[in-house]
Amino acid sequence: MNIADSIKKIRASIPESVELVAVSKTKSNEEIMQAYDVGQRVFGENKVQDMTAKNESLPKDIRWHMIGHVQTNKVKYMAPYVDLIHGVDSFKLLKEVNKQAAKNERIISCLLQIHIAEEATKFGLSTDECKDVVIQAQALENITIKGLMGMATYTDNVSQIEREFKSLKELFEDLKSDNKDFDILSMGMSGDYELAIKEGSTMIRVGSKIFGERNH
Ligand SMILES: *Cc1c(COP(=O)(O)O)cnc(C)c1O
Repeated sequence: MNIADSIKKIRASIPESVELVAVSKTKSNEEIMQAYDVGQRVFGENKVQDMTAKNESLPKDIRWHMIGHVQTNKVKYMAPYVDLIHGVDSFKLLKEVNKQAAKNERIISCLLQIHIAEEATKFGLSTDECKDVVIQAQALENITIKGLMGMATYTDNVSQIEREFKSLKELFEDLKSDNKDFDILSMGMSGDYELAIKEGSTMIRVGSKIFGERNH
């Protein structure tokens, strides 16, 4: 299936309230424009440098989401334009985002990445660390924490993925009860977004199911 048809098909199959982030990492401007031309405006990248180059050459109404692990020294390059940073996993990083946002006279929206996978390799905060960062973040005026992001274990075991999504949703609801800005729960990728939506996701990050397999 081509890119335009894949986007249309996914959109038609998910609730309107769920935001589709088209994950365009490693994909060309031409491929991104095929998605743009059927109305897609939110794109996700995992490298600051690639995202910045694409932001410079593609239409200005694209909203760029940083979905990857961010190094503190790269924040300044995306601070002028980034729409949402999904992968905030330390207070140190959040402080740098706040500083660079202030320099650009912006308020940058962020999600805290939570470690939900049982496998040990993925980035992210524990539940306790997350609660701590939310409290510390109240002192930062140029960022807004809008919710949480998580990645389930890469496995065929559906009940395990379900358990991981449920734990993230539970933490999200818990924090949402005293944080008025909390309204985004970013969970679900090509292989598991249907399950993620069933478990309460409000934002899915889909790459290969739109653009085809990536060449690594
Ligand atoms: C690459 C990536 C995705 C998209 O993965 P697909 O399986 O191709 O849909 C989603 N989220 C993050 C954080 C990623 O790095």
